[in-house]
Amino acid sequence: MNFKFTKEQELFREEVIAFIQTEKEKGIYEFGDNGFVHLVSREFSKQVSKKGWVGLAWPKKYGGKGMGYVNRLIMLEEMFMAGAPLGYHFVQDRQIGPGICHFGTDYLKNEFLPRILNSDITFCALFSEPDAGSDLANGKTTAVDDGDNFIVNGQKVWTSNGHIAEYGWLLARTNLDPDVSRYDSFSEMVVDMKAPGVTVRPIINAVGVHSFNEVFFDDVKVPKKNLSGKLNNGFRQIMANLDYERAGLERLMQNYSVKESLIDYAKTSKRNDRFLSQESLIRDTIAKLETEYQVIKLYIYYVASLSDQGRLPNYEAAIGKATANLFQTKLVDTATSIMGLHGLLTADSPEALYKGSVADSYLWSPSYTLQGGSVEILKNIIATRGLKLPR
Ligand SMILES: Cc1cc2nc3c(=O)[nH]c(=O)nc-3n(C[C@H](O)[C@H](O)[C@H](O)COP(=O)(O)OP(=O)(O)OC[C@H]3O[C@@H](n4cnc5c(N)ncnc54)[C@H](O)[C@@H]3O)c2cc1C
Repeated sequence: MNFKFTKEQELFREEVIAFIQTEKEKGIYEFGDNGFVHLVSREFSKQVSKKGWVGLAWPKKYGGKGMGYVNRLIMLEEMFMAGAPLGYHFVQDRQIGPGICHFGTDYLKNEFLPRILNSDITFCALFSEPDAGSDLANGKTTAVDDGDNFIVNGQKVWTSNGHIAEYGWLLARTNLDPDVSRYDSFSEMVVDMKAPGVTVRPIINAVGVHSFNEVFFDDVKVPKKNLSGKLNNGFRQIMANLDYERAGLERLMQNYSVKESLIDYAKTSKRNDRFLSQESLIRDTIAKLETEYQVIKLYIYYVASLSDQGRLPNYEAAIGKATANLFQTKLVDTATSIMGLHGLLTADSPEALYKGSVADSYLWSPSYTLQGGSVEILKNIIATRGLKLPR
């Protein structure tokens, strides 16, 4: 077992750090303090594309760099630490593109992969519905065969970046026979978000940010050539898609700056004439958080190394995401408690510290254990697929 990065990987990390520094100095993109998907800059994504880092882990035969998932994490670790605006290319680099490489027809590969790699287009994920989040197979959106097209009707919800996406990756029911298993009744397809009959309605979250939406489909025509993989095999395909979603560092590092702010606050703030960092309970709490952070980070690198060995991580990705989700919730809870009233002030207050990012993260925090599969569902995956416990 070797926990060290190779010389090439260390050099690559330096290249990423230098790239971020150059792009930051341009002063034209907004670098954030928490989250990343709502920070969208097509121009920044274009620069990432020029480096070949969109599709960095994809196979070379599909236009990717073939550099593997550990290198992708090295790049993302630095980007997350810097709060880089990755939102324009993130979802399609992480899961839509790999899904097309894996299951897509030649048409989908030729039509979409080059444009994803160049950051010419962005996708949203159209999975969740009002009564189908954890239980995706309960989805009611239908795609009915109509000659050269499917006719799509229904509603999706919580669609991140649905308002900026040119295309959507849709899971819809293509077999309406009630006697057929729900798991054999769904298909995946690409939808043009500007097609007649698609309506995107904003949902403003608790932070006051417009990052997700409701999406309605009224008799939307989707060409059959946009089908990905096999008809009625979409549910199984999407499970692989979600494993890519769960295997990343984003769930751990979305609030990297909160950890840094907490450490800074403890070093610079006094209570009863003593710096907080001199209080044993606070030192102990922060040290425990740091230990957890480092252990989870190493585990997520391990999951990436499984992908590089040709294994699609499944329950391993669930372990990484669940522990990272719980860590982030604990981190923002702890930071707001230790920072007291300072931790509750948002950026519009003159007294706010760290641009109000700790309060913002606190307001974002209920979403951490839900997005991309809730912690309870992930625990079920760990129990059944990892530990082979009965259902
Ligand atoms: C910030 C954010 C961004 C999102 N972006 C997208 C997106 O881009 N595209 C998209 O399609 N979706 C998106 N989602 C939706 C997300 O995938 C769902 O919220 C998630 O899958 C949970 O589904 P739900 O909200 O319907 O909750 P439910 O499934 O109703 O779950 C509610 C609660 O019940 C628990 N629960 C449910 N079933 C079980 C069970 N069998 N055992 C134990 N506990 C259970 C859950 O853990 C949860 O705590 C996003 C969500 C958030 C918060």
